[in-house]
Amino acid sequence: MPPKQPHDFDDLMLLEATPEQAIMTNQNSYATWGYPQLTLEQYLEREKLLANQEFTGENFKVWVLMSRKEQQEHQGKNDASANNNPTILSACETFKRKALIVDRSGEVIETICYGIASVFTPPHLRNKGYASTMMKLLTGILEKQFKADFSFLFSDIGPNFYQRFGWNVFNNKEIRFSIDGGDASGEGPGNMELGENVSVSPIRESDLERITQLDCQLVRQELLKVDHRALVVLPNKPSYVWMFERSKFYARVTANTEITIFGVELVRAFDEKEKQLVGFIIWFHDFNEQKLVALRFRSYSKQAAKILVAQAKQEARKYNLKQVVSWNPDMTLFSGEDGELVEREDSLPSLAWYKDWDSKVEWLLLEKAFKGLRPHHQFWGRRYSTAATRVACEPNEPSFLDSVQIYFEKAAGLSNASPKTLDHLKASDCTLKVTFPIEARGEGLFIVDNGKVEVLTGYRVHHSRHLLPVKGGIRFSPEVDEQEVAALAALMTYKCAVVDVPFGGAKGGITLDPSKFTENQLERVTRRYTMELCQRAFIGPGVDVPAPDVGTSAREMSWIMDTYRQFHSNEVDSIGCVTGKPIYLGGVRGRNEATGLGVYYGIREFLSYPEIQKSTGLSGNIKDTSFVIQGFGKVGYWAAKFLEINGGRVVGVGERDCGVYNADGIKVDELFEYHKANRSFRGFPNVDILEDPLKILEVECDVLIPAALERQIGLKNADYIKAKIIGEAANGPITPGANDIMLNKGIRIIPDLLLNAGGVTVSYFEWLKNLSHMRFGRMTRKWDELGKTKLVELIETIIEQKVSDLEKMHIIHGAEEVDLVYSGLEDTMMGACKETRITALKRKTDYRTAAFINAIEKIATAYEGSGMMLMN
Ligand code: NAD
Repeated sequence: MPPKQPHDFDDLMLLEATPEQAIMTNQNSYATWGYPQLTLEQYLEREKLLANQEFTGENFKVWVLMSRKEQQEHQGKNDASANNNPTILSACETFKRKALIVDRSGEVIETICYGIASVFTPPHLRNKGYASTMMKLLTGILEKQFKADFSFLFSDIGPNFYQRFGWNVFNNKEIRFSIDGGDASGEGPGNMELGENVSVSPIRESDLERITQLDCQLVRQELLKVDHRALVVLPNKPSYVWMFERSKFYARVTANTEITIFGVELVRAFDEKEKQLVGFIIWFHDFNEQKLVALRFRSYSKQAAKILVAQAKQEARKYNLKQVVSWNPDMTLFSGEDGELVEREDSLPSLAWYKDWDSKVEWLLLEKAFKGLRPHHQFWGRRYSTAATRVACEPNEPSFLDSVQIYFEKAAGLSNASPKTLDHLKASDCTLKVTFPIEARGEGLFIVDNGKVEVLTGYRVHHSRHLLPVKGGIRFSPEVDEQEVAALAALMTYKCAVVDVPFGGAKGGITLDPSKFTENQLERVTRRYTMELCQRAFIGPGVDVPAPDVGTSAREMSWIMDTYRQFHSNEVDSIGCVTGKPIYLGGVRGRNEATGLGVYYGIREFLSYPEIQKSTGLSGNIKDTSFVIQGFGKVGYWAAKFLEINGGRVVGVGERDCGVYNADGIKVDELFEYHKANRSFRGFPNVDILEDPLKILEVECDVLIPAALERQIGLKNADYIKAKIIGEAANGPITPGANDIMLNKGIRIIPDLLLNAGGVTVSYFEWLKNLSHMRFGRMTRKWDELGKTKLVELIETIIEQKVSDLEKMHIIHGAEEVDLVYSGLEDTMMGACKETRITALKRKTDYRTAAFINAIEKIATAYEGSGMMLMN
């Protein structure tokens, strides 16, 4: 029954269709309303084909727009007949699927999105605003009920329609190749030369997952180059499968043919085992429009692109199709005469709308040709634990490297170093980037097939070689890139100078997620990386001495040392090529806990300064102070433990997946053991769980200690920090903008280059131990004890009274290695804190700038004193 017109739009509502309504909608859209030329049987057949796909079944919904009043009138009437149902004014289909958003820093966030598959409005009801109303209502429903982060659609409705809602719409660019004669029956790619060792194989359904991974890997590389805040990776595997099924169905219906191929790949066959993909094309047959559409087109060279187009044309000829069309191709692969580039405003390959992100979400459409593509799981295997970077920082905030540079510049302006020295310090002295293949042996997660090769990238940056050896950790993390390593290397230069460790600054890393590798694989990776360092003289006790950092530990350091020694078996000091080793392999007692202990010494020292007590209102006593720690790894755990041992109250701890809070205090070791056993804090008794891992930074406490990763406090959360003091245990946890906001609020910040320098300090002790080939205290301990015993005996004689055995033991105890290390560390940290404080007071600046000034001036003395060879 046609509805009364016009409708009161406030009266309209959008409902999930009942099964009857869904069928009726389908009937209407496909039979009565004249949508695509499929019969109802054909449509239902299509649905059956799609039934197993991710976005169908439970995830697939039909929505209907109708009048509330009309619907109420029909309620309870037991209307069996569809004709008596309230009028459907407009309808649409949605499907739910996972999507990946990638932000500028390369962080990948998995989220749920809703695709709008189709929109139907009966012809006689069009142009009355029903479809728009339906979209508005749908947006509200998806946001509220399903917490959908964003939505997208494949639709031919046209951009104007969606732009009305403020959604970003991207035009579809196509390159069209017309089909010119040629042999449809021939086997190879027409008359194209395949080139040496290149073969063509069809892509089959079973290959989809592998191809999807390749695709995503490429997209990931692409993302790093694009200057947008966020991108959406599309399509992913389900879309391929969906298109594949759909095209198979069309093919069967229209051409009565069973299609088993929907694309080809070009493989360069080096030998039987080792094959490298050099390009692929995935297509579907659009028989209605007489064209073959390339869904995905990848090629690393113009030659490969030509071969792939020739393949597609050949396929099109088989079915008498007139055109081959590729969506959003990489135009660098084609010249003008190859095909015609058309921008289609009438058609939307995708549309993005993202509620929470103030900058636009970009669909990734223009993927470029790939080089060195790596078929593996890394992309999918990433931990999606990166909410921090996404939420904390604004897109226009400086990178970590730029942040270090900004801090440096500020201090440089206040320092008395010469402009030449300052210029020299701005750039890294040298950078090593290595890629090396690791063959899979099937024991881990990171390689799909046995026998395939994984190509990893490793870095080592020497920021300043004004003193040798250079020193800095090695990081294993999926986030590692050249910029991060360079930033950390620069920080190491300044850090060493701040604590008077006579080393230059360096840093290294490999881009990998260690949790995805078996121990055996990690060992091979570490050894291979070390070989690369050895071959290029980037390691050695007098050149460059690495240490552990995020994702590495004493285990990796032993592998490094052992590998180095294989190359330098006659070198007497070879054991000093790396620090952070286990004790039995030349490590020093106290290194494990050194950074955390240094953090404790530093905080204790700053709490004792009157100006800090005055500005924060704190007593200066650890016992009266509450602490929150973000990151419960090597540094965070030990810092928490030493604070607790000395009476501090640890009220909150944050990890990747969540945080815990208890204002009365949390038992550090119990929490640590629980986390070790359960890999999560969830279920730990007597604490509040903070689901959003970033929230731990915002809870009430006196001292906040970020001990996880860089860029955790940015412009987005700086205003919410309630701590009175921030102790930067991690490197670079605060962006410059956030730094200024918090300083203006009166929060005191103890900077990373000072506070976490305990690690490098004790590494220096370990190196000294290795060069002396002797445990600290070995020559002196007994002598000290003897001397002190004599002294106690003399005192007993003079006072004519015996000292108790316990007291005697305490007094005469000679220093062991760990005592000396702790003492050296405490002395170093206290000295560096005092120096920083004095500079801050003298130059009326913050502690970070003061620490940088001290570092710059010390380095300048070394540079300028040595004459800087060949600089003039
Ligand atoms: P680690 O890998 O042992 O610990 C890092 C911890 O932080 C892990 O438990 C990890 O799960 C957690 N984490 C990661 N992302 C997080 C997030 N978004 N929210 C909450 N927790 C998160 O590494 P580490 O050696 O303790 O290093 C931590 C920081 O300290 C790094 O910035 C590192 O460069 C710096 N640092 C370390 C040393 C050292 O000696 N290890 C020395 C100086 C500075």
